[in-house]
Amino acid sequence: MSVARQTKNELVRVKIHQPCCSKAELMAMLHMRGSLTKSGENIHLEVTTENTATARRFFQLFKGVFKFSPELLFHHKSSLQKNKVFILRFSDKEKIPQILNELGFSLHTQGVEWRNLRRRCCRRAYARGAFLASGSLINPKVAYHLEINCPYHHYAQLLKEVLVSFQLQAKSFKRKNDFVVYFKGSEQIVEFLRIIEAHNTLLNFENVRIIKGMRSQINRLVNCDTANMEKTVIAAQKQIENINTIERLIGLENIPPVLRRTAELRRLHPEASLKELGEMFDPPVGKSGINHRLRRINALAKKLKPR
Ligand SMILES: [Zn+2]
Repeated sequence: MSVARQTKNELVRVKIHQPCCSKAELMAMLHMRGSLTKSGENIHLEVTTENTATARRFFQLFKGVFKFSPELLFHHKSSLQKNKVFILRFSDKEKIPQILNELGFSLHTQGVEWRNLRRRCCRRAYARGAFLASGSLINPKVAYHLEINCPYHHYAQLLKEVLVSFQLQAKSFKRKNDFVVYFKGSEQIVEFLRIIEAHNTLLNFENVRIIKGMRSQINRLVNCDTANMEKTVIAAQKQIENINTIERLIGLENIPPVLRRTAELRRLHPEASLKELGEMFDPPVGKSGINHRLRRINALAKKLKPR
């Protein structure tokens, strides 16, 4: 099951405690997927969705607020696909204007009305309704991307303003006939999921985010370690070359005993770090002590080498 579908299944179980919020969620669904059509004498108020859970949610909220049930119809998207498209239709000509008015629509003005979204609880419900009707969320393992497809620019604008009231800065762009409102950053997506009360999705999302974060941290550490190891190996090779030079030219028995012992241990353990080399002495020698001895060995070799 897709992450978006899982999220929607979770969202339709969110309890709404106040009629104001039911209306706000219904309004969002109508904004995103609704239409008002006339055929002859009849008027149909419709919402279409391919998501079963969303269809059920609309039905329940609508019935809860207005006490009438919309008609539930469905058809197959095409003969080849088994995806159903649900249509929730309400055709009572007398009641439609009142319903639209209660939901905050006005048939006479183009502008979008804020009057049903003045309360924070309702703006939260509006964001949830918008996601239920036309939201999608990519699996966070793949990428951080959440978007809501709006049919009109002014609804995309309204949705962005609603989100701004929660300190969320969504972006938008035009895709064919739609206006897509989206988030890319994982923090913004997490915050959006919190606002619409998709708590399980949020937890899963956070888990993936933590694992991803840990993985990149481990990779960084591994890379850093590899780089350090390479440096150690290169330095050790140089030291061993110098030790061999000293042996060939004057013999290791002719240099001070501490240097000789250091040179012997270095040749035996080319991969050891300075700290590890120091620990091979009894009593142990500090990292800077070993470093100092190796520098003396290098300096001596340099002096001995014919120019
Ligand atoms: Zn409310």
